[in-house]
Amino acid sequence: MKNISCALAFFISFLCLNPGVKPSKKFINSYSYHPFISIDTIAKDGYTLIFINKDSAFDLKLKQRMIDAFFTVYPRQVRRFNPAALKSVAFIVDTAYKGIAATNNGTVRYNPKWFHNHPGDIDVVTHEVMHIVQAYPSGAGPGWLTEGIADYARYIYGVDNAGGNWSLTPFSPSHSYTNSYRITARFLVWLEKNINSRIVDELDAAMRSKTYSKETWNQLTGKTVDELWADYSQRPEL
Ligand SMILES: [Zn+2]
Repeated sequence: MKNISCALAFFISFLCLNPGVKPSKKFINSYSYHPFISIDTIAKDGYTLIFINKDSAFDLKLKQRMIDAFFTVYPRQVRRFNPAALKSVAFIVDTAYKGIAATNNGTVRYNPKWFHNHPGDIDVVTHEVMHIVQAYPSGAGPGWLTEGIADYARYIYGVDNAGGNWSLTPFSPSHSYTNSYRITARFLVWLEKNINSRIVDELDAAMRSKTYSKETWNQLTGKTVDELWADYSQRPEL
């Protein structure tokens, strides 16, 4: 097992460093004998998804829904935000991973237990692959904005947010834009509707080019982020 894991880790790092490279049939076959690991490579319209399943009990219908979600949302996110984003992505359903999901470069790791308990939460995929589109360099900007934009993308592009019992968190006076995730996402949706229809595109681009600063809010809206949040608090309806 250890050798397999090491080889797999090497393979994934190799893919991340060489996003255009597809695994050879020989490589895939060398893993397919193992009952707990399956590797599928699915290519469509210029995008490739390598799906590595390390959970023998993982629901195959759910796996297919994750694949379908990827090919539905990722190309749309790439087209809108970052056409230079990776065209080859890997998903790993990993029994050793205990969070919900995490993305590093072009690889998303999923906890099968989470999906077993929340089979409708398919748009975890939509949130995670937005992180691949973001591809922010380290030190690009605040984590709350990174996560807020990823949940904004889930809200806009999600294939079945209702089925996942997921929605933007209703506004509360105790909230702050730094609360991240759905709370920041709701603020972004409000800003887009009421202040600047391109604000998310511009914030995302600024983060990726490492030109984001507090001043960016002023440049895009004429107000500080605190002033914008105060306006939002006064009339938070979407
Ligand atoms: Zn995230």
